[in-house]
Parts: sequence; structure tokens; C-alpha cells
Amino acid sequence: MSKIISKLILLSEMFIIITYSNPELKDFPEVENLLNSLRDNTINIFQDIFIGQIEGTKDAISQVLGKIGFEAGKQIAQELKVKDEGSVKAYTEALVNSPILSRWGNINILHFDPGEKVATISVDKSIWTDSLGVIATKTCAFIEGMLEAIFSKILDEPIICDEMRCASEYSYVKDCIFQIAPGGSSREIRAYKEDQTIKEMGKKERAITMEAINEDIGEQFYQDLDPMIRLIQLFNKAPFISDHFIQDEEEVKFLVVCNYWRYSNDIMCNSCENWIRTCSKVPVNLVKSKHRICEITYKAIEK
Ligand SMILES: [Zn+2]
Ligand SMILES: [Zn+2]
Repeated sequence: MSKIISKLILLSEMFIIITYSNPELKDFPEVENLLNSLRDNTINIFQDIFIGQIEGTKDAISQVLGKIGFEAGKQIAQELKVKDEGSVKAYTEALVNSPILSRWGNINILHFDPGEKVATISVDKSIWTDSLGVIATKTCAFIEGMLEAIFSKILDEPIICDEMRCASEYSYVKDCIFQIAPGGSSREIRAYKEDQTIKEMGKKERAITMEAINEDIGEQFYQDLDPMIRLIQLFNKAPFISDHFIQDEEEVKFLVVCNYWRYSNDIMCNSCENWIRTCSKVPVNLVKSKHRICEITYKAIEK
């Protein structure tokens, strides 16, 4: 019985709300409940997508969200009327604090130089990081795209907005940092360029790893160490390995958290096993698990 009554209340609210051009939610508590559960559903879907399918593959969802954010930003930018350059800063300040932007998080302009067309923006309590929590990946591509469209309009030229650091990446990071700089191009071209940049970075980081070992203990001393110690040295010195654990059973198994897990395998990870074998001269086997962790095993040779 109560179910029917609550349905009737909801129905009557809905009939009324569709006649309003600017309904205020506080006047329609049942509709507000409905929207809240819709929001929860949406967040659940995002959580599934981010935590499930995206694991270990190139983050296509972020690219899609970036595009949606860019479209949303374009809608907002259409309404913008920026006057002379002197007032750009005050205007932007007011804009990021307006409800249309602040509903995505508390946005702060840390640095803004309209002449150089660069800015640094922090966002804390971004709804993306708040709802998804710490999941070891950036989650604010929507805001990234939105800021890109808005700042392109404000600065009157296509700019790039990059999320440099995200509160969803690490538990100790409290706010997300966005960098705005000139040189905007289409997001597809940029994704390709990013792949190339990441490859270059990976190669450099691998080279640095061996240089650090040679500098520290010398190559010969390193190669004389026990295989397990050689691997530990390598993982400790590699700037892209953020953590590793040893599971010692019949065979030695390392669980390694590598910063390249989120990129597609052909960017760095396909050559990782070979790289470890070449450097450490330990005949390891590498399996990329679904949990952002590489399992690296080798059979200990009995002495
Ligand atoms: Zn973020
Ligand atoms: Zn890897």
C-alpha cells in the first residue's frame, strides 16, 4: 500500500515538474530522491568501467570523457563574453567560482598569465575523484576537456589542458592539478603524440636504472650478486616501479607495480620481460596480471 502511495506522490510531482520551465529541486523531494539514485547508478557505471575493463589497457574511457567534457566546455564557452585583456583574470576567477563550474569541484586558479597563455588550476573535491576514490589512475578527463574548451575561448586560441596529478592516483594527493599551455591540437593527434612521448620516457627511465646501478655498485659487482638481489636492485632503482613484493614459494615470485600498466602493451610492457632478462641476466617470466601488477617469476637454481 505504501508503495502505491509513494508512487502516486512521485507521479504527481513529475506531472507538476514538467510544467515548470525552471523547477527548483527542493520543491520536489521525490524527484530529488530519484535524481540521487540516478547519480548513484551513474557513478556505479563509472566505477565498473574504470576499475573493470580499463585495467591494464590504454585508457579509452578517459579519452571519451575528455571529449564529452570538451563538448560541455564548448557549451559553457559559447555564453562567455570576455572583454579586454586586463579583466581576463578577474573574469576567469568569477567564472570558476560560478555554480556552472563549481559543481564539478572546488576550482582554484593557482597561477594565470593570460599574456603567456599559461595557467595552473587546482581542483579539490572533484566529483570524479570523490566518487571513485583512489584507484591508481587519473579520473578527471572530463574536467580536463571542459577546462580546455573554456580556456581556449578565454585566451582566444586552442590551448592544451593536462591533468598533471590526480587525487585518484595516490591517497596522499588531496587535489588535482591541471596545467594549461598553448599549442592545442585535436585530442586524437595528441593521444598518438602521447604514446610516442611515453615510449621515449620509458626508454630513458630504463637507461637511468642501469646507470644508477653502475654508479652505485659497479656492473661487475652487480652481476656477481644473487639473482634475487639483482632483481631487487633493479626494481629499487627503476623510477617507473613504484612498489614490489616477494612471494617466496617453490619458485621466486615478485609482484611488481609498474607505472606503465595503464598504457597499451605495445608501448612499454611487451619489451619489459626482455629488458629485465638483459639487465639482470635472470631468466625471468613476466605475466601482466589484471590487477595492475606484473608477476615476475624465475626458478631458483639449487646449489
Ligand atoms: Zn583528478
Ligand atoms: Zn610494465
